[in-house]
Amino acid sequence: MLSFQQYIGGAFEDADATFDSLDPATGTPWALMPAASAADVDRAVTAAEAAFLSPEWAGMSATQRGKLLMRLADLVAENAPKLAELETRDTGKIIRETSAQIAYVAEYYRYYAGLADKIEGAHLPIDKPDMEVWLRREPVGVVAAIVPWNSQLFLSAVKIGPALAAGCTVVLKASEEGPAPMLEFARIFDQAGFPPGVFNVITGGPEAGAALTSHPKVAHVAFTGGPETARHIVRNSAENLASTSLELGGKSPFIVFDDADLESAVNAQVSGIFAATGQSCVAGSRLVIQKGIKDAFLKRLKEKAEAVVIGAPDDMATEVGPLCTLKQRDHALRLIGASLQAGAKLVTGGSVPEGEGFYFPPTVLDCSGAPEAPCLSTEFFGPVLSVVTFETEAEALEIANSTAFGLASGVFTRNLTRAHRMIRGIRAGIVWVNTYRAVSPIAPFGGHGLSGHGREGGLQAALDYTKVKSVWLRTSDEAIPDPFVMR
Ligand code: NAD
Repeated sequence: MLSFQQYIGGAFEDADATFDSLDPATGTPWALMPAASAADVDRAVTAAEAAFLSPEWAGMSATQRGKLLMRLADLVAENAPKLAELETRDTGKIIRETSAQIAYVAEYYRYYAGLADKIEGAHLPIDKPDMEVWLRREPVGVVAAIVPWNSQLFLSAVKIGPALAAGCTVVLKASEEGPAPMLEFARIFDQAGFPPGVFNVITGGPEAGAALTSHPKVAHVAFTGGPETARHIVRNSAENLASTSLELGGKSPFIVFDDADLESAVNAQVSGIFAATGQSCVAGSRLVIQKGIKDAFLKRLKEKAEAVVIGAPDDMATEVGPLCTLKQRDHALRLIGASLQAGAKLVTGGSVPEGEGFYFPPTVLDCSGAPEAPCLSTEFFGPVLSVVTFETEAEALEIANSTAFGLASGVFTRNLTRAHRMIRGIRAGIVWVNTYRAVSPIAPFGGHGLSGHGREGGLQAALDYTKVKSVWLRTSDEAIPDPFVMR
């Protein structure tokens, strides 16, 4: 078995305890991972705080921070194949996707490298003639970053990139389900030339996460994961009044009107729900389809779902690999059972194959006669699509907005004015029109309601890692007049 180390204060080290990481394709252990203790978490935060205050980092120019981030981007690009291989091995995410995604992760570091010396303060046209007032943008401090197993390199880049560009330091807790890519990323980060302690990686489960998010020296918690964990995190971070950004789950509507290009919409739906074996927060997991085209759409979708190549995640030909964990598979099976009981009908898939690994086939549930089926409101985080029909545009909007989530949405129509009305009416952080599952470092990403708050990507994300300081400078040489009147 391979063995990985944690990264604290610029040094690689073993933890006192370890845990086995399972290969989702076989369900058997393949590597030993360090399990961070509360003492390890404390050392990591202390190292991050020391780095935050150090002249090497605090005194470094923003331009130089940008250069280091650019070097990191180049290293990520150079090492993308190795990182992809490890993410595939440890999480079961198919190599076809990890290879492309991790090569693109380098672009996120490049974007924030370029942004580092463009985070500007401001001069204010203050209403007092003898004052100069300006705003400084300063880094918030030590950031705790917590990521789930799916797309860890991507989900951490959208935190590490803007946080370091802003001048913060970071302690990242990798997911206990497949931490290998983040521990290897630490090795790559180490070569970029940042001062020790600027970035630290620990791993472990809820205990390590709770120790990190409740640490008094953490100023901001950037979290991606499920809503239930987010509640724990908000409660823990409230103790120190640390700020939070929360990227949570979704039950995103994929709305198709009868004037849409059907072939294009079906392909986008396949990508929206079956890519990454459905383990995607933005999965278009509710097909909201106009009644007249339902049968034609489902016929094509079923054909494509049944033709999907299911196989080993490290095979370039594979389109759907295993789920990351057995727990995830059990959850999907339970939810399908409850939905069938509530009146949903199985169009395709639904049962797991014999043999090793946590495989799950592309599945479609027709819920058009079962509006209360739990599959319409609960996230699967697997390749399972729930279908519901509508007749009017108003009905489509009502269904789209009928869950507590609000992360992503898709609208397929050729009618421009209708598209604009839908864009306005949908309560979600992302609306994709005639496309789905497109991302870029330039565009903000995030949700409403149970999908969380805060945005990752874009300029705003870097500003969110800063706090504003108002500076008042009096320009008059005369003595301060009446001390009992506010100036
Ligand atoms: P999870 O919430 O169970 O775990 C996420 C991370 O939180 C893990 O690293 C875990 O160890 C840690 N954690 C668990 N308990 C903790 C605690 N008490 N304190 C601090 N940290 C704790 O999520 P998961 O099941 O690993 O991932 C799936 C979820 O993530 C889904 O809901 C999915 O939609 C969501 N997700 C959201 C986005 C997004 O950008 N919006 C992206 C990917 C995944």
